[in-house]
Amino acid sequence: MIIDTHCHVYKSEMENAEEIIKQALNNDIHLILNGTDFKSNMEVLELADKYENVHAALGYFYTLADDITDDDIALLDRQLENNNVVAVGEIGLDYYYTKDNKDRQIELFERMLDLAKKHGLPVIVHSRKAIQDTFDVLKRHEVVGSLHCYQGSAEMARRFLELGFYIGVGGPVTLTNNKKTRKMVKTIDINHMIVETDSPYLSPQEKRGEINTPLNIKYIIRKIAQYLDMNDDDVIEITSKNAKKLFNI
Ligand SMILES: [Zn+2]
Repeated sequence: MIIDTHCHVYKSEMENAEEIIKQALNNDIHLILNGTDFKSNMEVLELADKYENVHAALGYFYTLADDITDDDIALLDRQLENNNVVAVGEIGLDYYYTKDNKDRQIELFERMLDLAKKHGLPVIVHSRKAIQDTFDVLKRHEVVGSLHCYQGSAEMARRFLELGFYIGVGGPVTLTNNKKTRKMVKTIDINHMIVETDSPYLSPQEKRGEINTPLNIKYIIRKIAQYLDMNDDDVIEITSKNAKKLFNI
């Protein structure tokens, strides 16, 4: 069994989401669906209720940083009580498009971390062009979780590991010239690695230009196995064990 720890396989992202979910389950791939806003959080909850081995992560993404209200937070707080919820995510910081609302992004991120702590849940963190701030914020909070599709350096990865975080390895590891991620995978302990597709985004090299699905997780596993000189089954066993432990599933 493989656990795709981060994907967006629901209707507002993929028209044929349920078909893809069934396909993944038939291939023994379990899923953690990640919501990012009101609508997708609802969709994730419904799918996790309907399918065994489909788990829910709920959160408000940085894109909502300027608009979030106390009522929105209260709604999420109630939704996190659901038994199928295994994490708060996708949450985090992204300065790629703009840094202008940095303070409000950090404020929303911290409110999400407070909710995770309150509910005793791990977090699934997005970080783009914001790795130092992400680290500084996480350091201030007593939470554990994963850095989804981690693209930072090996040195920084080690610092996240010290905070109790896991490194999410996704499609970019398969890109032929991604030396940074290659080095990171070869450096950090596989006992702190989990795998993910971020479907429908971040297709692996082998499926470039196509819509990504959880079935493509095999390319990510193969690449990790190749870099670490292990066989695929051992990578699957260890990363699944890690994901079960982190997300308590
Ligand atoms: Zn994502």
